[in-house]
This record gives sequence, structure tokens and C-alpha cells, in this order.
Amino acid sequence: MTFEPVFSSTRPILVAGPCSAETEEQVLATARALQDSGIALFRAGIWKPRTRPGAFEGIGKPGLKWLQRVRQEVGLAVTTEVANAQHVEECLKHGIDVFWIGARTTANPFSVQEIADALRGVDIPLLVKNPVNPDLKLWIGAFERLHSAGIRRMAAVHRGFSSYGDSTYRNAPRWQIAIDLMQTFPNLEILCDISHICGRRDTLAQTAQMAYDLNYDGLMVEVHPTPDQAWSDAAQQILPEQFQQMTAALMRRAITTDDPDFLASIENCRSAIDEIDQEIITLIARRMQLVRDIALIKKEKNVAVLQPERFRALREALLLRGQKNELSQEFIALLLEAIHQESIHQQERLMNAPAICANKVKV
Ligand code: PEP
Ligand code: MN
Repeated sequence: MTFEPVFSSTRPILVAGPCSAETEEQVLATARALQDSGIALFRAGIWKPRTRPGAFEGIGKPGLKWLQRVRQEVGLAVTTEVANAQHVEECLKHGIDVFWIGARTTANPFSVQEIADALRGVDIPLLVKNPVNPDLKLWIGAFERLHSAGIRRMAAVHRGFSSYGDSTYRNAPRWQIAIDLMQTFPNLEILCDISHICGRRDTLAQTAQMAYDLNYDGLMVEVHPTPDQAWSDAAQQILPEQFQQMTAALMRRAITTDDPDFLASIENCRSAIDEIDQEIITLIARRMQLVRDIALIKKEKNVAVLQPERFRALREALLLRGQKNELSQEFIALLLEAIHQESIHQQERLMNAPAICANKVKV
């Protein structure tokens, strides 16, 4: 797939505005307060996909006129979310500059196809948020459907992924998924929607810095003139002045440099890292060999593969060791789970294999 840029301005690209358009005054007040903040686009949701009914579901069509006023009176380009063909039609009629596809919509191929069909032959730029579930193929699938309809000006918006249970994030970032998208499509612009990832104000700045450090093209941020009174997503919205202070304080680092000292020290570290990575694989392979030896012993005595007590003890010891070495508990748990999964898999294969095969592996 080939993409054309949505944004022509210099990096970082900033998209900001309220979660929802609530009143004409609120929309215009936010836009005026953001007029000189260097934003490329003003955002406001008109139709709001809420997780549960009863929450504010958007002001609907009247809000489009307010966005027209933002364009004409404040001079900012505007974007809003479209989730079906009817939204597309209304937004086209009202001259909305850029459309965005929300996370719940990207997750549904029927909806994405409906939007793609409604846009066939129309030259409009689109922002495509990641689907709510951590599925890179589904995200790419949305781009493919839109691309097949002839749309070329598209950018990705990473807004994190739903997860069950407590987390410091509202939507877990799973940075690697976005990095994989960047590597698959190096020319596709990508913004980080820190508001929906964080779900709270106090972690916005550090998440934005993370996005800059990962070379995102820019940010999408929810900004409201009275955040605590917002009709949707109150906990994550910030004041226009907080937005200005935050973006001014972010460090935008160069992707690389030709400085010889820099290149030499980086090269040293990289070759040491490469060596360690090789060692890690060798060590894991040795561990797996022992695991296979155990499998044969277990098989002989007809003992089950999974030994919960042993796994619990191992886990505790490693979490403690991780803690002492400044490694997060989350990382140790993930690493151990992956190693344990592979061990079980290897043992299963051996224990259920015919005897001759088991002997062969043992040699
Ligand atoms: C939004 O941007 O306000 C929104 C509803 O986002 P998402 O689709 O990422 O939940
Ligand atoms: Mn929101």
C-alpha cells in the first residue's frame, strides 16, 4: 500500500480539542484558546461511541455547524469521528477537513467497509485509530479497505488497547504493536492519542514524551475549557494552557546524527547488546534441553507436565531477583510466562511422542 501524507506542517503534528462538542460556546471557546498553539487540526466528537448506554452519546448534526464556525472564525482545520455512511455524508456536506475512524469502528470490518464504500471517489484525508483489541492485522485491514476505495491520505492514531483488570493506563499502549505498524509502513504518519491511553491527566506528559522518543509524528490530545465539567472523558481532559505548557516542555530528539563520537559509543553498546542477546538464546536453549530431560523422566514415572507448586516457587524467586536488579515485576512475569509456555510445549511434544522419537531427542 502507498500512502500520502495527511499533514504538510513540520513535526510534531498536534491535534487537540474537546472529547465531545457539547455546546456552541464550549467548542468556540476551546478553539479560540487553542488558536495560537500551533495545532494542525481541531478535534471534537459529534457522535460519541460510548462503552455503556446512558452516557452522553454526542450532540449529533447541530455540532457540525459549530465546527464550521471554528473553520471560518478561528481559522483552524477541523476533524470529527465518523462511524457509518450517514456520518460520512453529513461531514462531507459540512466541509469537515479530516475524518477520523474510532477504535470501536476499526474493530468492525462491516463498519469500515461501509465507510470505505461511502468514500469511494472522494478525496478526503482520514485518521484511523487502532482497534480496541490488540490486533495489528485488523488495524492494517482497515487501511486496506480504505485504500481499496481509493483513499491515499491516511494517518494512524495509536490510542491503546482495552484490557481487563487494573492498570495505570485506561487503554494499555502495547507500544510494540504501533512500532510494528511503523515498520510495516514507514511512510504512514502516526500520532499518539495520549488522552485515551492514559485516561487521567497526571500521566499525559510522560506518555507524550515516550511517543516523541519513539519518533511518532505527533499527538492527539483532549482539551476542554472546564475539564472537570466535561460531558465525556472528564478525568483525562486538560485546560488549553496546560496543553500549551505540556507540549512546550516536551523534548523532541533527533532521529539520528552523524557525530562520530555518538556513532562510536552507540556502536560499542550495540555490539555488547548483540553478544548478550546471543547468550540469552544459548542459555534458554540449554534450559530447554534440561526441560526435555525432565520430560523423559516424567514420562517414565507417568507424572503430569505442569507442576504448579514448582512454578509458584520459581516465579517468586525470579520476581524477587528482578526487583533487586531494577526490572519491573510486569516484565519478569511476562518473560517467565513465555519461557514456561515454551517449556510446557516442549515437554508436551516429547511426552506425547512415540518412544523412538523421544529417545532420538534425548541424544
Ligand atoms: C475519542 O477520540 O473521543 C474517542 C471516542 O476515541 P476512541 O475511538 O479512541 O475511543
Ligand atoms: Mn474521548
